[in-house]
Amino acid sequence: MNKQISGPRFYPDLVFLAGRFSVEKLITAAVADFFCIARLSPGRRKMTRILIVDDDAHDRRLISSRLMKSSADVEVHEADNHENAIRIAKSMKIDVVLLDLNLIESDGLVTLQRFTAECVNMPVVVLTGSTDEELGLKAIASGAQDFIRKSDIGNPWLYRCITNAITRFELQQALKTELTQDSLTGLPKRATFEGMLQAAFDRYDGTDETAFAVVYVDLDEFKLINDCFGHAIGDEVLIEFGRRAQGCCRATDLVARFGGDEFVVLLESIKSEGDINNFVNRFYEALSAPLSFDGEKVFLSASVGYVASCGRYEEYEAMLRDADTAMYEAKKSGKSKHLQFSQRMRDDSLMAIGLESRMRMALENGEFEVYYQPIVDLQSCETLQFEALVRWNHPERGIIMPLDFIPHVEQTGLIIQLGQTVLESVCRQIRAWDDAFPGNEIGVNVNVSNVQARVPEFAENVFRTLTESRLDSHRVTLEITESTIMEDPEETIKTLQKIREFGLKVGIDDFGTGHSSLSKLHRIGFDCLKIDRSFVKELLTESHAEVLVETIILLAKSLGLDVVAEGIESQEEADRLVEMGCNVGQGFFYGKPMPAADASRLVESNSTVAQSSTI
Ligand code: C2E
Ligand code: CA
Ligand code: CA
Repeated sequence: MNKQISGPRFYPDLVFLAGRFSVEKLITAAVADFFCIARLSPGRRKMTRILIVDDDAHDRRLISSRLMKSSADVEVHEADNHENAIRIAKSMKIDVVLLDLNLIESDGLVTLQRFTAECVNMPVVVLTGSTDEELGLKAIASGAQDFIRKSDIGNPWLYRCITNAITRFELQQALKTELTQDSLTGLPKRATFEGMLQAAFDRYDGTDETAFAVVYVDLDEFKLINDCFGHAIGDEVLIEFGRRAQGCCRATDLVARFGGDEFVVLLESIKSEGDINNFVNRFYEALSAPLSFDGEKVFLSASVGYVASCGRYEEYEAMLRDADTAMYEAKKSGKSKHLQFSQRMRDDSLMAIGLESRMRMALENGEFEVYYQPIVDLQSCETLQFEALVRWNHPERGIIMPLDFIPHVEQTGLIIQLGQTVLESVCRQIRAWDDAFPGNEIGVNVNVSNVQARVPEFAENVFRTLTESRLDSHRVTLEITESTIMEDPEETIKTLQKIREFGLKVGIDDFGTGHSSLSKLHRIGFDCLKIDRSFVKELLTESHAEVLVETIILLAKSLGLDVVAEGIESQEEADRLVEMGCNVGQGFFYGKPMPAADASRLVESNSTVAQSSTI
């Protein structure tokens, strides 16, 4: 009998919580709380107040005397029906209720439900019929702490069963607090927030009154605060940050701490986006007053991301995820930034997820394709060279432009492999043109990322690739940006020098966007300079652009460098560049980047012209 009572049972509350949270954390918390309670118990609970609810006077007396015999620290109260039980339970602090499920006015689980509906925070041990083990287990599943059969009420272990139920209840309560309330700030935790968010979802009926928004607020540079001022002050900052966020909310709103420096706000009754902006502005205003610690001032700022259109969502998880994405995007763009979620952000983050393995697959499947943009003589329009520009031919998404994936490829380091793929493809193409149109001397410019330039054997690899394709080095020009050189001048200079020793040409890309001086760059040694598209775009409208382009051209010429203008989109721009002394350029006006087959036609017509002019 004893075994049946104290053996393992199904405690739905704990299982429910365990399902939602890390089981490991739950167990750690439970064990910690258990020992805490166990240590406190002897001194703390002087008197255990027990309420026996049973309509059978004989049973009440039997239980009462058994309990009194078990401990001197027991105070027993009796109720013979539901109404009296509630009255007593509400009039004093009852530690545990012994509830007979078979009362005159109700029977079975209904008795328990009626009682717990009115007295929420109280451990209950139910009394069941002698053979009703199943009912007892159901009662536990419905929130009772334990059950005892009527036939067992005379047993000496009755008291122990009751005190165990109290301890179990306290443990559950402590666990709930641990899981629902942040111990540092006192704010609700994620679990509570999610519960409230789900409720907001359920309430939403398309009206302004029920519309709601989720706002992620994340403290900027919290790590720096921790590092500079220590963790104790870091904690103070978090408490104050949460307090200020809460100070900007209405009574119906909710602020929760999700962990670290990440707080989430649920704003209710959102009539328009303006309501969210008002909150954000109030919050930024609240943050503007610095905190003072030992005479040191700490200035706080936050990155904010939010989702307004709750009607678009079918589940709260997606709304939380998107607000988080928006916050992350805001954080990326600097301090004190706030952004509303947009689908583009999700596309980007989806792209980033698993991108590395997807990229590897794309490389293996040959999904990257090199396009060629003609670099022309601005007066004769003859194609002198091409620039190789890579595209990702994605099987589902179609052509993806380099700016949408090159940064990710650089981050993962896969650019080294991609760069090599592009170079090999270019070499094969030049070889194919040589075979098809003998005598043509067309060259191709290949872009080099800063990650590639840092590889010590980069120059050797490039040279080997060209040699394996039986190509002269001068057929390939490597384009490297000014900022790449400035990032690591010493290493890059060494690499560039080696490249030129191997006979390849080097071009400085996007010239004018960095802050380097041309004479300094020239000492490094390179062959050509590409004027950035942004200057060409403003050439006819902005006088400063005109002066700058003219100066660059003059200076480059005086240093014996070739100059190529990028991004020419009109005859007028081309004419002006020629007037200034720049005779070579590229741009949509002459030809957009095109697949190899189209570029081949240009090479063919070039060589036909060349052949006919020699005849
Ligand atoms: P970039 O090296 O400055 O390349 C020139 C970019 O300007 C190309 O964009 C080209 O399509 C675009 N462009 C050319 N003429 C015009 C014009 O008249 N108007 C406008 N609006 N744009 C013009 P794309 O192909 O999107 O490439 C963007 C960047 O991606 C390149 O800038 C380069 O930095 C990078 N990239 C492309 N292919 C490679 C590659 O194989 N390796 C590396 N490391 N980077 C690459
Ligand atoms: Ca380029
Ligand atoms: Ca460029």
